[in-house]
Amino acid sequence: MVSSRGAINRTSAARYDIDGLLAAIDGVPTVTDPVAVRRRSRDFFWYSPILNQQLAAKSADILVAPRDEADVVRVAAACARLRIPLTVRAGGTGNYGQAVPLEGGVLLDINSLNVVEWHKPGVIRVQAGAKMHDIDALTRPAGFELRMHPSTKRSATIGGFVAGGSGGIGSVTYGGLREPGNILAARIVTAEEEPRVIELRGDAAQKINRAYGTTGIITALEMPLAPAWPWIDLIITFDDFFEAMRFGYDVALADGVIKKLLTPMIWPIPANFPALKAHIRDGKSVVFAMIAQPSLETFKSILGDRGTITYEVAHDDSPNVVPLYEYTWNHTTLHWLKQDRTITYLQCLFPHERVIESVREMWAMFPDEVLPHTEFIRFGGRVTCSALPIVRYRNPERLNEIIALHEQHGVMIANPHVFTLEDGSRHKRADADQAGYKAEVDPYGLLNPGKMRSYVPVRT
Ligand SMILES: Cc1cc2nc3c(=O)[nH]c(=O)nc-3n(C[C@H](O)[C@H](O)[C@H](O)COP(=O)(O)OP(=O)(O)OC[C@H]3O[C@@H](n4cnc5c(N)ncnc54)[C@H](O)[C@@H]3O)c2cc1C
Repeated sequence: MVSSRGAINRTSAARYDIDGLLAAIDGVPTVTDPVAVRRRSRDFFWYSPILNQQLAAKSADILVAPRDEADVVRVAAACARLRIPLTVRAGGTGNYGQAVPLEGGVLLDINSLNVVEWHKPGVIRVQAGAKMHDIDALTRPAGFELRMHPSTKRSATIGGFVAGGSGGIGSVTYGGLREPGNILAARIVTAEEEPRVIELRGDAAQKINRAYGTTGIITALEMPLAPAWPWIDLIITFDDFFEAMRFGYDVALADGVIKKLLTPMIWPIPANFPALKAHIRDGKSVVFAMIAQPSLETFKSILGDRGTITYEVAHDDSPNVVPLYEYTWNHTTLHWLKQDRTITYLQCLFPHERVIESVREMWAMFPDEVLPHTEFIRFGGRVTCSALPIVRYRNPERLNEIIALHEQHGVMIANPHVFTLEDGSRHKRADADQAGYKAEVDPYGLLNPGKMRSYVPVRT
């Protein structure tokens, strides 16, 4: 990182004491070139036509790249003293402007904090900026890997996943990050004149889970690991999408089958995967799956003659290969957006007691407008599915109508077209623990301001 004290945006220089900050953190790498800072102030909010309008012009005033936790403490102290907002940015793959600094200020690039502190069978202690792909590469030779990762595993960090993500590949077995035991501990730095470094263990670590960095700067995490199986990537084609759903559900329920991914997608979603053309059949829906090699025989007997396996390859996510999981979760939407920017998406959670009926009900309500792409997961110990359906976008009113109709029919929506925690959460409010904790660790409301919109700073 080049330290550059180039032109500082005049308005922000007047708004915040950036010169005072630079003096206070002398020696910590910074970038002040407005074009470079603006480029880094973005994430994947452009998936949403609504957020794209609201967030495109937002930018931090300065990017600061701490080299270690001591640097983080210095930056947090200076920001608190000078009342400068601070938004953490890791891989920048978030979807709802999570890392976009709404009020300018400091963009804290956490990527250099990437040291593995230790690992042993079943557990790793690692700095927050470590890439998940690097973590798996390190622990795999010992027979372990992260229990779950987003489809952005190759570019996202473990801290960004815990602060901004929910679950992904692996959640069909372990549930999401919110399930007890899926985050063992977190170390955070507070945003105070004299920052504290706090260890949150067990349930307390949920205070920083999916809080968009509003409840502390995470510097290290202790994460549970799973056995690293030899995974097989599979594509299975089906005449009928609901046959694909039923098969996926049968495998999800089969506790003896070791799996990491079960992704049904209706035709024509697979038509947007040109690189997989040889394994896709026109008009056919698909299930994309990752199955442990020893479970393959059982997997195939559950399939029977319901569908056809068109792809069966040992899993490989080395740098020059595009792994199958990069067609699932929110990569599915990305592949379609690459061909056509008129679509968008939703994030749904279907009721576990009537999963398939509920998916069918929603499909029947919006045929050809909301195209089902589902992901089998465990949620609170039950097998169900979440979904990231493709939505043929018309206007904000229609999008809100589609959301309301889902909710009226018992399908929970985590709205990806809003940037606040409250509006994006399934419960339409900030988590009570997180909101209360924020008062303790961020009294001036400097951490990613505007994202927890109900928070009123307890000190001014
Ligand atoms: C194509 C695509 C596919 C995706 N698939 C999935 C998926 O399968 N599952 C899923 O859950 N998400 C998914 N996402 C969303 C996103 O990629 C993940 O949540 C990812 O883990 C974010 O990590 P990141 O390092 O890029 O974090 P960033 O985008 O940089 O940050 C995310 C949020 O966390 C905060 N943050 C980051 N690091 C810290 C820290 N150290 N301390 C405090 N706050 C911090 C940021 O301020 C921001 O609010 C997807 C996104 C895209 C674009």
